[in-house]
Amino acid sequence: MASGEIKSSWAAVLDHTRNFSDFTFVYPVISRRSQGLSIGINLNPDKACNFDCIYCEVDRSTPGTRTEVDLKQMRDELRALIQRVKDGGLAREPKFDQVGDLAREVKDIAFSGDGEPTMVKNFSECVESVAEVKRHEGLSETKMVLITDAAGLDKTDVKHGLSIMDSHNGEIWAKLDAGTERYYKTVNRSSVKFERVLSNLLETARERPIIIQSLFLKVHGEAMSEQELTAFCGRLNDITTGGGRIQEVHLYTVARPTPEEFAAKLENEELEAFAQTIRKETDIKVAVFP
Ligand code: SF4
Repeated sequence: MASGEIKSSWAAVLDHTRNFSDFTFVYPVISRRSQGLSIGINLNPDKACNFDCIYCEVDRSTPGTRTEVDLKQMRDELRALIQRVKDGGLAREPKFDQVGDLAREVKDIAFSGDGEPTMVKNFSECVESVAEVKRHEGLSETKMVLITDAAGLDKTDVKHGLSIMDSHNGEIWAKLDAGTERYYKTVNRSSVKFERVLSNLLETARERPIIIQSLFLKVHGEAMSEQELTAFCGRLNDITTGGGRIQEVHLYTVARPTPEEFAAKLENEELEAFAQTIRKETDIKVAVFP
């Protein structure tokens, strides 16, 4: 199965008329949070994650595929997609022809995808490879984003990868959905201790400003309680009073059907009310993505 995938991916690299869905590691997406075209780098075709969020959109009913990142293939796919953006080919594809000029400019290149990017053993090599393509393609000003659950930010190789990102217009978008261990276990269902996630957020934010990404939702019909929200704001304040910098909180909710029926979306007004409280309690900028 793996060799068949390599073959079809390579065909897609060589033949620009092929659909980009043939790629293994690289995909284009119009992202509201990026305000335009984001090129996603999926380091986890194996769907590996150390969280098991009740709202996760990754389809785990089918097994993952590749466990190793083929750096050469990733670089080639990335170069091919950037070329396709530059020559206007992407904007002409059926999936993107409705978004006009948005598909003609790469807003960011984001480590995201079907699992947790920091779980790959050669994370820093992956970052270096993307940085190299970015430079080569004249996209030095383009952001390089890591979308992470923060559980692996304390690993030595990951820290090295983050330092490479720092010198290539990097941004870290780190997940925090809860204020207490109990709610964290309910929503993120991870075996990683909440303390470790919080400590990683603090240490990472001490090195450079980070963006916190928080998904709020209804669990069995109940939105986050007032006590939980107070605890959540407390965790953010712990980071800032501890010397960490939070550039912004991205607050969003469930956008698509979730694997768990008891996990449901919040109404826009509810999300906005949560955002107001967070702004008031923390003095941090909060952007809402209903
Ligand atoms: S961290 Fe992301 S990939 Fe992992 S389970 Fe949660 S939503 Fe899914």
